[in-house]
Amino acid sequence: MARPQRSLLRRLLIRVPIPVLALLFGLLAGGAAWYAIDRIQTRALAEIFDQELESQLLQQARVGLIRFDQYRDTYAAVIRLLANHRHLSDYLAPVIWAADDEVQLVSYRTGPPPWLPDTDLWRGGIRPSHILLVDTAGRIREAYHLSDEPIPRDLLGDAHPLTLGGERTAFMTRLDGRPYLIASDLAEDPGHHILGSLVLLVPIDSAFLAASQHAVGSDAAVVAILDSDARHVLASSDEINVRPGDNVDRLSAGYVVTAQSFFDYEGSDLNMLFATLVPRAGVEATGARVLDLERRQRLIGAGVLILVFVALFIVVSGRINRLLQRMSKFSRRALDMEQPAIERGNQLLILEEWIHDFAALVMHAREETRARHEEEMRESEALTAALMETSLDSIITVDEHGRIIEFNPTAAQTFGYDRDAMLGRQFDRILLARQSRSAFLQRFDDCSALGPAEVDPRRFELRAKNREGQEFPVELAIKPTPLHDRLLFTVYVHDISERKRQEAEIKSLAAIPSESPIPVLRVNRPGVVIYANGPSEPLLRHWGCHRLQTLPVYWKQQVQSVLDDGRTRELEVHTDHGIYSLLFAPIGELDYVNIYARDITKVREAEEEARRRQNELVHVARLSTMGEMATGIAHELNQPLSAIVNFANGSARRLELRVGSSEDLLHALAQITLQARRAGEIIKRLRGMVSRQQPVRRLVDLNALARETCAMVAHETRKLEVTLELALAREELLIRADPVQIEQVLLNLIRNALDALAEMPVPDRRLALSSGSLEGERVYLSVEDHGKGIRPDVMEHLFEPFFTTKSAGMGMGLAITQTIVNDHHGKIRADSWPGRGSVFTLELPAAAAMIKSAAS
Ligand code: ADP
Repeated sequence: MARPQRSLLRRLLIRVPIPVLALLFGLLAGGAAWYAIDRIQTRALAEIFDQELESQLLQQARVGLIRFDQYRDTYAAVIRLLANHRHLSDYLAPVIWAADDEVQLVSYRTGPPPWLPDTDLWRGGIRPSHILLVDTAGRIREAYHLSDEPIPRDLLGDAHPLTLGGERTAFMTRLDGRPYLIASDLAEDPGHHILGSLVLLVPIDSAFLAASQHAVGSDAAVVAILDSDARHVLASSDEINVRPGDNVDRLSAGYVVTAQSFFDYEGSDLNMLFATLVPRAGVEATGARVLDLERRQRLIGAGVLILVFVALFIVVSGRINRLLQRMSKFSRRALDMEQPAIERGNQLLILEEWIHDFAALVMHAREETRARHEEEMRESEALTAALMETSLDSIITVDEHGRIIEFNPTAAQTFGYDRDAMLGRQFDRILLARQSRSAFLQRFDDCSALGPAEVDPRRFELRAKNREGQEFPVELAIKPTPLHDRLLFTVYVHDISERKRQEAEIKSLAAIPSESPIPVLRVNRPGVVIYANGPSEPLLRHWGCHRLQTLPVYWKQQVQSVLDDGRTRELEVHTDHGIYSLLFAPIGELDYVNIYARDITKVREAEEEARRRQNELVHVARLSTMGEMATGIAHELNQPLSAIVNFANGSARRLELRVGSSEDLLHALAQITLQARRAGEIIKRLRGMVSRQQPVRRLVDLNALARETCAMVAHETRKLEVTLELALAREELLIRADPVQIEQVLLNLIRNALDALAEMPVPDRRLALSSGSLEGERVYLSVEDHGKGIRPDVMEHLFEPFFTTKSAGMGMGLAITQTIVNDHHGKIRADSWPGRGSVFTLELPAAAAMIKSAAS
């Protein structure tokens, strides 16, 4: 599914993990908020600070004024002390100042006046510039100078403020433009007559102001006396920075000025103000420090807030990540859908996209499922229809009353009814045999009463009835199917007539082994007889075992070997009861062997009899041949006998005539012996041929037998003037055979050849014998004549008994020849070229090869 293209911003944002984004947003938002708050906060703080400062300064100023006032009171107290001192009254008692006197000011500069007691007061911070003794009219009569300053001129005229003498007071005033504190007290005699007054003249200068504050408070704060009208400084505690005469407004640029009126001093010059000046730089620095501190705290708070914010987002994004993983895993498992890949980066955006993708996938999957469902429904319907059409079972749908509402083609075919004719008919009445109806109705009622899941799903057997009224066995299953608000029933009817027939057949087939007159056994691989029928008893007895027991080792091995080979094998067993041929048939898939035994005692006896008869026949044939050869043999025998007679007669004559030497006699006797031996050989050979003897197997040389045979027919060969060509193998061709029978074979072949040659002109009468070995395995001997050959029609029947083309022939020669050759496991082949002659080739196993094969 294609995802819509992301915008550049989204592509950028999605790569940034939430904590980083949170940090960035936090910094940005925090910075903006901080900037806005800072402006408001700074202003608010400045206002608060200003208010606070103002109140602080006011407080400080008040304190300053109070100190100033207290300091002033110190002077008042001092003057009171001095004025009431005995020295002064003692001094003034005798002095009389006339009111209109010319005032002669007495000044004391070097030492204290006599009216002043000795005191340490001046060292205690009290710094009057002058102490004046004033008469009752207010005129200065005597003056004690404690500084170098002159007495202010304003005090020297008549109309001056000291006229208030007589009053106890301390006030400030301006004298010669400078502020002064004037403290005075009345000097009285013991009778309370006023003698004058004592006045302390104290210039209010920086030293005074500094002393008034006892150096308490900020070093930077300055106290000053202002002229409220002229708005300039009259005196200050720090004349370097705040000089007398400085304009207050100008000073306001550098100082925060707090001015206040003095407490009501009697007679004081009231246009003076007490001012406290605090350097603005210090105040502002403090303000800035406070603001800085507040900002720093705010910054730390904001930082902590951002960190908490970021940490929160790390936790949230972690949880979102885990949630994503879990959702992804869940949906993969639950919905079996391919999941959108989860990228790294902004988990919220990824989650949003994931949810979007996931929702799209779910929608898509739902669409697919719906389509598949519809398709399945269609297929299912088609399938149901096809099933109904093609089912090998009869499928009949009935309603809750057992009335047929659907009837498939198989049902129509099985029961022989038309579908339409069956609709609405009662199932049990029309399609079941009478005896089966109650069983069906019973089951049908069960199905109606029970839920579809509880119905017994097994088929049950009933007898059905077709249109012709023929009953047949069926298997029937009822399946209830709820459809809307109805309960329908599908009845599956399976015709089991054929199965029943097959079952009966199988049952009868299974009975075959037990009914079999021949022994049938079944043996498993370990050699255990798992089945044996009745006729197997003699075999089991022979093996000495019963059913479910193990066969003797040899037979057990045979069973296993047959199972391994997978091929049937025939073995023979000689029991006391008879000879059995056992056919071992392996049943590979079940891993056992069926043994079918055949009693072949009679067969073997018949074979023995046949063999005996065959020997008889061979012998008879030989006798017959010998009979035919009797003349020749007689002639053959005649020769040595005649020779013996001749030599004997000759010797007798010589003895009678007494002629000849003894050597001649000896030679004659030797010849007689030789000829007698020759005759003996012929007789021996003849006896061998005619005697009845059991067949034997001996090691004999085929070439020697060929030569012997040639000797036997020598007379006939000579008579027919046949040229005999012997091309025999140089080496011995040893065979294991019955020599008499092989000679009989050769005799038959040579005599047939001679018969064929007899019809040819004498010069053409050639007979050739050749022999040899065939790769050491077999040996051969061929008898070739140059007669007229054998016609194809004769060739076909050549080896059949009693087949002959000769008037006096018996037709048994070649038949017996083949029997003998077969007995010797050999072959005989005839080749002929009509008009040119024939070759008969005899092939026999070489003795060496026989020994070899026997050994292996
Ligand atoms: P018989 O010699 O008594 O006829 P055989 O069984 O020996 O019986 O021969 C059967 C027939 O085969 C002969 O009658 C003859 O026709 C034919 N036959 C056998 N050998 C030869 C041969 N070498 N040449 C021609 N025909 C032959």
